[in-house]
Amino acid sequence: MDLQYFKDALIGKRGELVGTGGIKPLQASMENNTRQGDMADQASGNNEVHIQLKLKQTDAKILQAIEEALWRIEKGTYGVCRDCGEPIAEARLKAIPWTRVCISCKEKQGV
Ligand SMILES: [Zn+2]
Repeated sequence: MDLQYFKDALIGKRGELVGTGGIKPLQASMENNTRQGDMADQASGNNEVHIQLKLKQTDAKILQAIEEALWRIEKGTYGVCRDCGEPIAEARLKAIPWTRVCISCKEKQGV
């Protein structure tokens, strides 16, 4: 496990979130449009504001998770699933370095 790699990735992502004030607006709204394709039919101006608000909350959650992950690196418990205690697959950590749970626990949560 290359902790330094994940530390760099976490710090880089944190800087991205803090430095730019969030996700790039254009990219973010495009992602939302594809994900919420069916709901987009009823989209209104209010929904747009809603989406922006939701993104901010997501950013805050990710930031919190990044802080926790950095703390876990310091404690030497990084990469261990919070729920089952099993090691989290490195491929998953590379995709989401701030994740707290392994893929099977994540699927069990249904989130
Ligand atoms: Zn697990």
